[in-house]
Order: sequence, then structure tokens, then C-alpha cells
Amino acid sequence: MGLREIADKSRSAGRFVALLACALLAYALSLPGSARAAEQADRVQPPAAAQSGAGQPVRAVDFKMAGDAAKMRIVVDFDREPNPRWFLLRGPHRLVIDTPDSVMALDPKDMKASGLVKSVRYGKVGASASRLVLATKGPFQIDKFDILKNDDGAGYRIAVDISAASEREFDSALADQATTTGSTVSPDKSGRVGKGPMVPDHRFTVVIDPGHGGVDGGAEGLHGTVEKDVTLAFAKELRDKLIAVGNYNVFMTRDTDEYLRLDDRVRIARQHEADLFISIHADTISVKGIRGATVYTVSDKASDAEAKALADRENLSDQFAGMEIKDDNQEVTDILIDLIRRETHSFSMSFAHTLVGQLSTTVGLINNPHRSAGFRVLKAPDVPSVLVELGYLSNAGDEAQLIDPDWRAKAAQSITNAVALFASAKTARTVTGG
Ligand code: ZN
Repeated sequence: MGLREIADKSRSAGRFVALLACALLAYALSLPGSARAAEQADRVQPPAAAQSGAGQPVRAVDFKMAGDAAKMRIVVDFDREPNPRWFLLRGPHRLVIDTPDSVMALDPKDMKASGLVKSVRYGKVGASASRLVLATKGPFQIDKFDILKNDDGAGYRIAVDISAASEREFDSALADQATTTGSTVSPDKSGRVGKGPMVPDHRFTVVIDPGHGGVDGGAEGLHGTVEKDVTLAFAKELRDKLIAVGNYNVFMTRDTDEYLRLDDRVRIARQHEADLFISIHADTISVKGIRGATVYTVSDKASDAEAKALADRENLSDQFAGMEIKDDNQEVTDILIDLIRRETHSFSMSFAHTLVGQLSTTVGLINNPHRSAGFRVLKAPDVPSVLVELGYLSNAGDEAQLIDPDWRAKAAQSITNAVALFASAKTARTVTGG
């Protein structure tokens, strides 16, 4: 099981180190026998010099993870200061943390898969090192890797922040690792924050997110129209129109009737390095007589009571997965991420503005058609994101339009036009370096 897999990995990754260790050990140490030499050679690295614990291994005593499919924090508590090394592996994507001269006394209950992390394993590597292996749902990046002293003075902790990233970003971190360290030891952590180098031929990438799906049907119309079907049909129309332009990469978070958690939708956007994320919805509203389209951006404080109520309803989607709803306030205080987020937000606002302008020429809009609230699905820190409510299924007129192919084609064309304006403005910014 887990231990064997870990041992296999250590064998191939540690082959080079093993040879080196053999030579060093034979030379420097007068070892009593070959059995012990072989045992030593299996180590990931030679034991560190004795620490203050007078020859006792460092003990990992607690393991915690928090977050979601887009971003996770992993914390491992130790009784004394650990000396970990970390590295990445692919197939599947993994983060490996090796701690020499340590033992792990962790509760398997704390190590259940959650969010971005799909499995956690640990075991011994060689005679005295411990290895922790976290496999993820997809490519990720290390935002932070810290060794911190606990405030209460009792022990230390390793705190790692990881977030969903693209294959390219993961590969670039892997390549860094290989060139700087020969693949078994991590390079300087400070160089790892943020994105890798921009690819020159990166095409403007749009991720379309048809709201709801599977067990989560979303809203229901007066005449039985189900939101998840309307959003998917519309998203396909929009996808085809965007692809026809020929300048964009276009992806959908789902193209079948399947259930997806909100943070998985965000993860997919990051995985594709989206330049724009458009979530499509068609909800109901209890206020009589209200109809027309609305464009939403994310904000901590809702623009109005209806926007807040809508965001609360949309955020409930995660309950279909039986997961608890948690606030992500503890998230990111990192200044760099905060700056990225602010820039992203201004792009989201700018696209929303353009989109409202385009939609107003073809479809009906509600009053104050650009609104904001705390939509979880719009929270990728580095992807400009909007949520479009195409209309209200609670309104007979809107419901009829939403299932009318001609109306859908018209509305999708308006969004396509807005994407074109936004994309060309972005290209101009990139070219002028502004
Ligand atoms: Zn919805």
C-alpha cells in the first residue's frame, strides 16, 4: 500500500544520492558491516548533525489541512525545529516533503482527502527520515513554504500554501527544480511565489462556466425550464461563437449534465490560465415584475440586497456535495496575492462594464445592470471573472426568451463582442507594457 509506493519512489529519486552516500560512508565512516551500509544508502540524504534534542528524532505530532479545490493550507506540527526539503513529482501531481531525523506520529483521521489534495500518505525513507506525500487533483503551485516557531513556544510547524495552477506552471516549477538541485531538493522558496514566465504564444483564453448541473438543478421556471439546462445550452452557443472568431482558446467547466463544486470551477479556470471566466446563470427572483439580464462581479460588500440574496443562493450549490460551507476569511493575507487580486478585480470591473454596454444593444437589462456580491465562483485571485444572469426564470417573458434559440444567439453574440473588445484592450496593454 502507501508505504510501498513511497519506498519505490524513494528508490528511484534517491539513486544518485544513494551512490554518493555509499561512497561517502565508505570513506568517512568506519562502518561495521555491509548491511548497515546498504541501509544508510537507502536514505534520501545523510542524517543532519545532532540537534538540541540530543540524538532524538524530531516528532511530527499534528497534521491539518484547510481550504478548497482552488487553494489549500497544509500545516504539520513538530515538537522541535524540523529541517524539511520538498520537491514536486508528476503523474499524478504530488508535493513531497522529506524531513531527516524525524518520526511521524500523525492521526490518519486528519489526513483524509480534501479540496485540492486527493490523498495524503507518509512513511519512512531510509533509517531515520520521514516522507509526506500529498497528491493533488491537478497541477498546483507552491505559494509559500514556511517553517515557523509556534507562538506558545511549544515546537514548530511547517505551513505550506498551495493553489491550483496550469500544467505549464507546474512544469516550469519542475524544470526549476531539476536545473537548480538535481531534482531531489527544493530550490530557494522565495523564488516560487506567483506565476512562471509568461508564454509568448499564449492565446487569449476564455473559460465558460455553465451554472449548476447534475444533482444541482438550479432555479426552475414557471413552465418547468430548469436552470442547469438553460445555462449549458447557452454556454455551448457562446463557446461555438467564440471559437468561430478564431483568436481564442475556449474551455467549459462542464459540457455535460454533471455536478461541479464551485471551487472546482475556479480550479479549472486557473488550470487553463484563463484570461476571462464567465459564469452563466438564469435564476428566479421573488420581486414581481423584474426581468432582464444582470452582470455581477465579486465584492465583499454586496451592491444591494437582491445581489446579496442571489450570491447566497448560488453559494449554496456546494451543499449538494454534502460539504460544509466555510468562509475563506483566513485565506491570503499575502501582499503579492493581494496586489494580483486588486489588479484582477479592476479587469473584472472593466469587462463587466464592456459587457453591459454590449448586452444593452440586444437584450433587456434590469435597472443598474452591473451589480456585485460575494460569489464564491468568482474568487480566483488571478482570473478576471463575471457572472451573467441572462434573465429570470421567474418571469414568463424571460423564460420564453431563454429557451428561444434566436434570442440565445443574439445574447451570445453580444458577449462575444464584449470578449473581443476586452481581449484587444488586453493585447494592447501587453504590447505597450502598460
Ligand atoms: Zn444560478
